[in-house]
Amino acid sequence: MKVFEEKKGNIFRILSEAISEGIVIVNEKQEIVTSNEAADRMFGYGPKELLGENINLLIPREYRHIHTQQVDEYMEKSDPRQMGHGRDLYGRRKDGSVFPVEAGLNPFEIYGSKYVMALVTDISVRKGQEREIIELNMQLEQKVEARTKELKQTIKELKEEVAKRKEAEYKILESLRKERELNELKTKFLSLVSHEFKTPLSGILTSATLAGKYTETDQQDKREKHLKTIQSKVKYLNNILNDFLSIERLESGKATYKFDTFPLSKVVNEVIYNANMLLKEGQRINYPQNIDDISVNFDEKILELSLTNLINNAIKYSPAHTLIDVEVIKEKEALTIKIKDEGMGIPEKEQKYIFNRYFRAENALLDQGTGIGLNIVKSHLESLGGTIIFESEEGKGSTFTITFPNKNTTE
Ligand code: ADP
Repeated sequence: MKVFEEKKGNIFRILSEAISEGIVIVNEKQEIVTSNEAADRMFGYGPKELLGENINLLIPREYRHIHTQQVDEYMEKSDPRQMGHGRDLYGRRKDGSVFPVEAGLNPFEIYGSKYVMALVTDISVRKGQEREIIELNMQLEQKVEARTKELKQTIKELKEEVAKRKEAEYKILESLRKERELNELKTKFLSLVSHEFKTPLSGILTSATLAGKYTETDQQDKREKHLKTIQSKVKYLNNILNDFLSIERLESGKATYKFDTFPLSKVVNEVIYNANMLLKEGQRINYPQNIDDISVNFDEKILELSLTNLINNAIKYSPAHTLIDVEVIKEKEALTIKIKDEGMGIPEKEQKYIFNRYFRAENALLDQGTGIGLNIVKSHLESLGGTIIFESEEGKGSTFTITFPNKNTTE
C-alpha cells in the first residue's frame, strides 16, 4: 500500500513540478502525498520532507479546525473552489512563521482513492501592499481629519473675527448716530434758544425798563410786580436750560446719577416756592404739609427736575383761578407723587405722543414750550427704575403720576 502511495506521489510530483504555484496533494486522511518544489520552498521544507505529513503541519494552529471542516466538505462534494473567500487564509512555515496565502482546492479521484489538490499562492507581497494601501488610506484620512479640524478652527476664528468687526462697526455707527443726534440737537437748540428765549428776554427787558420808571416811594407795589415778572421769566429760562443740559447728558451717555438720602419736604418746598412765582392770578397749589417725616433715597436733582417740570406744566396749561393738587403716596418700597390740574388737558388722539421729544399738543401751542420736559423726565425716571404715567381729558384737566423706588421712606 505504502509503495503504491509513493508511486502515485511520484506521478503527482512529476506532473506538478512544472507549475510555478505551490501544489500540495493530500489523501482522504489529509496526509500529504506530494508537494512540488514551489510549495516546499514556500513552506521552508526540503524535497520530499513533507511526504506523509498531515496537512495541518502547513496550517497555523488557530486555522486548523476551519480547514479540516472545509476539506471534509470538499471531499464530499468534489467541488473545486477557491478557499478563503471572504476571509484571510494563512500558511505556516517550517520555522513556525505564518504568512498569508490564497488557496484553490481541487478534489479528484484516481485509482478509486479521493484526493485534494491545493494550489497555494504566497500573497505576503500583495497583503503587504494592501496593508500599505490601508495604512496610506488611514494616513490620508487622518490628514483629511486634521485639515478639516484646522479648517473648522479657521472658520470659527473667521466667524469670531466677523462678529468682532460687526460689533466694532456697530459701535462706530452708534457713535456716529449719537454724534449726528447731538449735532441735530445743537442746531435745534440754537433755533429753540433764539425762538424760546426771545419772548421772555424781551419781557424781562420791558419789566426792567418799567420798574426803573417807578421812582416814587409809594410806587413800591408796582416795582414789585415787575420784579416778580422778571424773576418768573428768569426761572423759566433757567428751567429750559436745565432741560437742555439734561438732554445733552442723556444723549452723550454722560448722565450720572447720585443717590442721597434727604427729606422729601426739602425738594417739595423748593419746587413749590419756585412754582409760586409762575402762578397765574387766582391759581393755587395744594400740597401735603405732613411729609416732614418722609425721607427719600433717590437722586435729588432728578426728583427736583421731575416735579418742577410737572408742576410748571400744570401751571402753564391751566387757566387762572384753578387749583393744582400735589399728592404724595408713601408705599413700602416706593414713593408715588401725583400732580393734578384743572387745565386744558391733552387731546385724546395726541396722548400717545406726549412723551416724544419736541412733541407739543395742538391745544398747547399758544403757550411757550419746547416739548422736551416730559421726555427727559421719563428717560431719567426709567433709568432709575421709576415710571411716569398720566390721565387727561381735554378741557377738564390732567393728572401726572410719577413713582420711583424708595426703600427708606421713613426716617
Ligand atoms: P413743553 O411744556 O415745553 O411743551 P413738555 O414736554 O413738558 O414740553 O410737554 C409736552 C406737551 O405735553 C406739552 O406741549 C403739552 O401739549 C402737553 N402737556 C404736558 N403737561 C400738560 C398738562 N398738565 N396739561 C395739558 N397738557 C400738557
